[in-house]
Amino acid sequence: MTTNVILLGPPGAGKGTQAKTLAERTSLSHVASGDLFRAALREGTELGMLAKSYMDRGELVPDEVVINMILERIQAPDCLAGVIFDGFPRTREQAVALGESLAAHDGKIDAVLYLSVPNEVLLRRIAGRQTCKTCGATYNIYYFPSHRPGICDACGGKLYQRSDDSMETAQHRLDVYFEQTMPLIEYYQRQGILHEIDGQREITWVNEEMLKALSQYLVTSPQPEE
Ligand code: ADP
Ligand code: ADP
Ligand code: ZN
Repeated sequence: MTTNVILLGPPGAGKGTQAKTLAERTSLSHVASGDLFRAALREGTELGMLAKSYMDRGELVPDEVVINMILERIQAPDCLAGVIFDGFPRTREQAVALGESLAAHDGKIDAVLYLSVPNEVLLRRIAGRQTCKTCGATYNIYYFPSHRPGICDACGGKLYQRSDDSMETAQHRLDVYFEQTMPLIEYYQRQGILHEIDGQREITWVNEEMLKALSQYLVTSPQPEE
Protein backbone atom coordinates (compact mmCIF):
# COMPACT_ATOMS: atom_id res chain seq x y z
CA MET A 1 0.00 0.00 0.00
CA THR A 2 1.32 3.42 -0.96
CA THR A 3 0.63 6.37 1.29
CA ASN A 4 1.52 9.93 0.40
CA VAL A 5 1.35 12.67 2.99
CA ILE A 6 2.01 16.40 2.77
CA LEU A 7 3.18 18.38 5.78
CA LEU A 8 1.85 21.88 5.20
CA GLY A 9 2.61 24.92 7.27
CA PRO A 10 4.63 28.14 7.49
CA PRO A 11 8.41 28.25 7.87
CA GLY A 12 9.22 27.24 11.44
CA ALA A 13 5.98 25.30 11.99
CA GLY A 14 7.90 22.09 12.72
CA LYS A 15 7.52 20.26 9.39
CA GLY A 16 11.12 19.04 9.24
CA THR A 17 11.21 18.03 12.90
CA GLN A 18 8.00 16.02 12.57
CA ALA A 19 8.79 14.53 9.16
CA LYS A 20 12.06 13.03 10.43
CA THR A 21 10.31 11.23 13.29
CA LEU A 22 7.39 10.12 11.11
CA ALA A 23 9.80 8.64 8.58
CA GLU A 24 11.53 6.69 11.37
CA ARG A 25 8.22 5.36 12.69
CA THR A 26 6.69 4.40 9.33
CA SER A 27 7.86 2.99 6.00
CA LEU A 28 7.50 6.38 4.31
CA SER A 29 10.39 8.39 2.88
CA HIS A 30 11.03 11.99 3.95
CA VAL A 31 11.36 14.27 0.92
CA ALA A 32 12.18 17.90 1.82
CA SER A 33 12.59 20.38 -1.03
CA GLY A 34 14.68 22.79 1.07
CA ASP A 35 17.03 19.97 2.15
CA LEU A 36 17.43 18.88 -1.48
CA PHE A 37 18.37 22.43 -2.51
CA ARG A 38 20.84 22.76 0.37
CA ALA A 39 22.41 19.40 -0.57
CA ALA A 40 22.70 20.52 -4.20
CA LEU A 41 24.40 23.70 -3.04
CA ARG A 42 26.90 21.76 -0.92
CA GLU A 43 27.70 19.66 -3.98
CA GLY A 44 28.19 22.87 -5.95
CA THR A 45 25.75 21.91 -8.74
CA GLU A 46 24.06 24.38 -11.06
CA LEU A 47 20.72 23.60 -9.41
CA GLY A 48 22.21 24.47 -6.03
CA MET A 49 23.58 27.81 -7.26
CA LEU A 50 20.31 28.71 -8.90
CA ALA A 51 18.28 27.82 -5.79
CA LYS A 52 20.64 29.80 -3.54
CA SER A 53 19.95 33.04 -5.39
CA TYR A 54 16.26 32.72 -4.43
CA MET A 55 16.71 31.21 -0.96
CA ASP A 56 19.05 34.01 0.14
CA ARG A 57 16.30 36.53 -0.61
CA GLY A 58 13.57 34.43 0.97
CA GLU A 59 11.85 34.05 -2.40
CA LEU A 60 10.47 30.83 -3.84
CA VAL A 61 12.55 28.94 -6.38
CA PRO A 62 10.65 28.89 -9.71
CA ASP A 63 7.91 26.26 -9.90
CA GLU A 64 9.34 24.44 -12.90
CA VAL A 65 12.70 23.90 -11.16
CA VAL A 66 11.16 22.60 -7.92
CA ILE A 67 8.60 20.43 -9.66
CA ASN A 68 11.22 18.72 -11.87
CA MET A 69 13.46 18.06 -8.88
CA ILE A 70 10.70 16.57 -6.72
CA LEU A 71 9.07 14.47 -9.44
CA GLU A 72 12.46 12.96 -10.22
CA ARG A 73 13.24 12.36 -6.54
CA ILE A 74 10.03 10.40 -5.91
CA GLN A 75 10.86 7.95 -8.69
CA ALA A 76 13.63 6.53 -6.50
CA PRO A 77 13.05 3.03 -5.06
CA ASP A 78 13.00 4.27 -1.45
CA CYS A 79 9.78 6.16 -2.26
CA LEU A 80 7.82 3.05 -3.31
CA ALA A 81 5.98 2.69 0.01
CA GLY A 82 5.09 6.37 -0.01
CA VAL A 83 6.40 9.83 0.74
CA ILE A 84 6.18 12.49 3.43
CA PHE A 85 6.42 15.77 1.51
CA ASP A 86 8.01 18.54 3.58
CA GLY A 87 8.11 22.05 2.11
CA PHE A 88 6.51 20.95 -1.16
CA PRO A 89 4.09 21.91 -2.66
CA ARG A 90 4.28 25.62 -1.85
CA THR A 91 2.18 27.00 -4.72
CA ARG A 92 -1.00 25.98 -6.49
CA GLU A 93 1.00 25.11 -9.63
CA GLN A 94 3.21 22.75 -7.62
CA ALA A 95 0.17 21.12 -6.01
CA VAL A 96 -1.49 20.55 -9.37
CA ALA A 97 1.70 19.14 -10.92
CA LEU A 98 2.18 16.75 -7.98
CA GLY A 99 -1.43 15.57 -8.11
CA GLU A 100 -1.22 14.93 -11.86
CA SER A 101 2.06 13.09 -11.64
CA LEU A 102 0.83 10.83 -8.83
CA ALA A 103 -2.44 10.17 -10.70
CA ALA A 104 -0.46 9.11 -13.78
CA HIS A 105 1.06 6.36 -11.59
CA ASP A 106 -2.30 5.42 -9.98
CA GLY A 107 -1.33 7.27 -6.84
CA LYS A 108 -2.68 10.22 -4.88
CA ILE A 109 -2.16 12.39 -1.84
CA ASP A 110 -3.88 10.60 1.03
CA ALA A 111 -3.60 13.23 3.72
CA VAL A 112 -2.39 16.78 4.25
CA LEU A 113 -1.34 17.57 7.81
CA TYR A 114 -1.49 21.31 8.36
CA LEU A 115 0.55 22.63 11.28
CA SER A 116 -0.85 25.94 12.51
CA VAL A 117 1.40 28.16 14.63
CA PRO A 118 1.00 31.88 15.46
CA ASN A 119 3.33 34.32 13.74
CA GLU A 120 5.28 35.57 16.75
CA VAL A 121 6.11 31.99 17.76
CA LEU A 122 7.28 31.25 14.22
CA LEU A 123 9.76 34.12 14.20
CA ARG A 124 11.26 32.96 17.50
CA ARG A 125 11.46 29.38 16.28
CA ILE A 126 13.18 30.41 13.05
CA ALA A 127 15.60 32.78 14.80
CA GLY A 128 16.52 30.05 17.30
CA ARG A 129 16.79 27.18 14.84
CA GLN A 130 20.08 25.28 14.71
CA THR A 131 20.72 22.47 12.27
CA CYS A 132 23.33 19.70 12.37
CA LYS A 133 25.82 19.87 9.49
CA THR A 134 26.32 16.11 9.59
CA CYS A 135 22.92 14.48 10.15
CA GLY A 136 20.43 17.34 9.62
CA ALA A 137 18.87 17.07 13.10
CA THR A 138 17.22 20.31 14.19
CA TYR A 139 17.47 22.06 17.57
CA ASN A 140 16.29 25.36 18.96
CA ILE A 141 18.24 27.58 21.32
CA TYR A 142 15.00 28.74 23.02
CA TYR A 143 12.74 25.68 22.92
CA PHE A 144 14.82 22.61 22.28
CA PRO A 145 18.55 23.17 22.92
CA SER A 146 21.17 20.52 22.34
CA HIS A 147 22.79 19.25 25.56
CA ARG A 148 26.16 20.73 24.62
CA PRO A 149 25.95 24.13 22.90
CA GLY A 150 26.70 23.94 19.19
CA ILE A 151 27.05 20.13 19.18
CA CYS A 152 24.48 17.62 17.88
CA ASP A 153 23.11 15.19 20.52
CA ALA A 154 22.49 12.52 17.90
CA CYS A 155 25.86 12.40 16.13
CA GLY A 156 28.27 14.91 17.70
CA GLY A 157 28.24 17.01 14.50
CA LYS A 158 28.54 20.80 14.44
CA LEU A 159 25.36 22.90 14.58
CA TYR A 160 24.92 25.92 12.31
CA GLN A 161 22.33 28.61 11.72
CA ARG A 162 20.85 28.74 8.22
CA SER A 163 21.73 32.01 6.47
CA ASP A 164 18.08 32.53 5.47
CA ASP A 165 17.00 32.30 9.14
CA SER A 166 17.97 35.95 9.84
CA MET A 167 15.06 38.05 11.14
CA GLU A 168 14.73 40.09 7.97
CA THR A 169 14.68 37.14 5.56
CA ALA A 170 12.46 35.11 7.90
CA GLN A 171 9.87 37.89 7.95
CA HIS A 172 9.87 37.98 4.17
CA ARG A 173 9.53 34.18 3.96
CA LEU A 174 6.44 34.44 6.15
CA ASP A 175 4.98 37.09 3.80
CA VAL A 176 5.69 34.81 0.84
CA TYR A 177 4.03 31.94 2.69
CA PHE A 178 0.85 33.95 3.33
CA GLU A 179 0.64 35.06 -0.25
CA GLN A 180 1.62 31.94 -2.19
CA THR A 181 1.26 28.89 0.06
CA MET A 182 -1.72 29.65 2.35
CA PRO A 183 -4.21 29.15 -0.52
CA LEU A 184 -3.23 25.46 -0.48
CA ILE A 185 -5.04 25.06 2.85
CA GLU A 186 -8.35 25.69 1.13
CA TYR A 187 -7.27 23.73 -1.95
CA TYR A 188 -6.79 20.56 0.11
CA GLN A 189 -9.71 21.29 2.42
CA ARG A 190 -11.96 21.17 -0.64
CA GLN A 191 -10.54 17.75 -1.46
CA GLY A 192 -11.51 16.61 2.04
CA ILE A 193 -8.00 15.49 3.02
CA LEU A 194 -6.82 18.34 5.26
CA HIS A 195 -6.16 17.68 8.96
CA GLU A 196 -5.30 20.71 11.07
CA ILE A 197 -2.96 20.10 14.01
CA ASP A 198 -1.99 22.61 16.68
CA GLY A 199 1.71 23.03 15.91
CA GLN A 200 2.25 25.16 19.00
CA ARG A 201 2.05 22.13 21.29
CA GLU A 202 5.00 19.98 22.32
CA ILE A 203 6.94 18.10 19.67
CA THR A 204 5.90 14.66 21.01
CA TRP A 205 2.22 15.66 21.26
CA VAL A 206 2.23 16.87 17.65
CA ASN A 207 3.87 13.63 16.58
CA GLU A 208 1.20 11.49 18.24
CA GLU A 209 -1.58 13.58 16.66
CA MET A 210 0.00 13.07 13.25
CA LEU A 211 0.21 9.32 13.71
CA LYS A 212 -3.44 9.28 14.81
CA ALA A 213 -4.46 11.24 11.73
CA LEU A 214 -2.52 8.81 9.56
CA SER A 215 -3.53 5.59 11.31
CA GLN A 216 -6.18 4.73 8.74
CA TYR A 217 -3.63 4.94 5.90
CA LEU A 218 -0.66 3.21 7.45
CA VAL A 219 -0.11 -0.50 7.57
CA THR A 220 0.48 -1.32 11.21
CA SER A 221 2.04 -4.60 12.18
CA PRO A 222 -0.23 -6.81 14.32
CA GLN A 223 0.39 -7.01 18.07
CA PRO A 224 2.54 -10.04 18.84
CA GLU A 225 0.59 -12.85 20.59
CA GLU A 226 1.33 -13.52 24.25
P1 ADP B 1 9.97 23.82 9.45
O1 ADP B 1 10.61 22.62 8.78
O2 ADP B 1 8.48 23.79 9.38
O3 ADP B 1 10.54 25.12 8.97
P2 ADP B 1 11.46 22.93 11.82
O4 ADP B 1 11.06 21.54 12.02
O5 ADP B 1 12.81 23.19 11.26
O6 ADP B 1 10.32 23.74 10.99
O7 ADP B 1 11.33 23.69 13.23
C1 ADP B 1 11.65 25.07 13.37
C2 ADP B 1 12.34 25.30 14.72
O8 ADP B 1 11.37 25.14 15.77
C3 ADP B 1 13.45 24.31 15.03
O9 ADP B 1 14.45 24.99 15.74
C4 ADP B 1 12.79 23.23 15.90
O10 ADP B 1 13.70 22.65 16.81
C5 ADP B 1 11.72 24.05 16.63
N1 ADP B 1 10.47 23.30 16.88
C6 ADP B 1 9.86 22.42 16.03
N2 ADP B 1 8.70 21.96 16.58
C7 ADP B 1 8.58 22.57 17.78
C8 ADP B 1 7.58 22.50 18.82
N3 ADP B 1 6.48 21.73 18.72
N4 ADP B 1 7.79 23.27 19.93
C9 ADP B 1 8.89 24.06 20.04
N5 ADP B 1 9.85 24.15 19.09
C10 ADP B 1 9.71 23.43 17.98
P1 ADP C 1 11.45 26.09 6.04
O1 ADP C 1 11.81 24.76 6.64
O2 ADP C 1 11.83 27.21 6.94
O3 ADP C 1 10.03 26.16 5.62
P2 ADP C 1 12.72 25.18 3.63
O4 ADP C 1 14.00 24.51 3.96
O5 ADP C 1 11.54 24.34 3.33
O6 ADP C 1 12.37 26.25 4.75
O7 ADP C 1 12.94 26.15 2.39
C1 ADP C 1 14.02 27.05 2.33
C2 ADP C 1 13.95 27.82 1.01
O8 ADP C 1 14.08 26.90 -0.09
C3 ADP C 1 12.65 28.55 0.75
O9 ADP C 1 12.61 29.83 1.36
C4 ADP C 1 12.68 28.64 -0.78
O10 ADP C 1 13.57 29.64 -1.23
C5 ADP C 1 13.27 27.29 -1.18
N1 ADP C 1 12.20 26.27 -1.36
C6 ADP C 1 12.02 25.14 -0.63
N2 ADP C 1 10.95 24.45 -1.06
C7 ADP C 1 10.43 25.16 -2.09
C8 ADP C 1 9.30 24.99 -2.93
N3 ADP C 1 8.47 23.93 -2.81
N4 ADP C 1 9.07 25.94 -3.89
C9 ADP C 1 9.87 27.00 -4.04
N5 ADP C 1 10.95 27.23 -3.27
C10 ADP C 1 11.23 26.33 -2.30
ZN1 ZN D 1 23.81 15.38 13.98
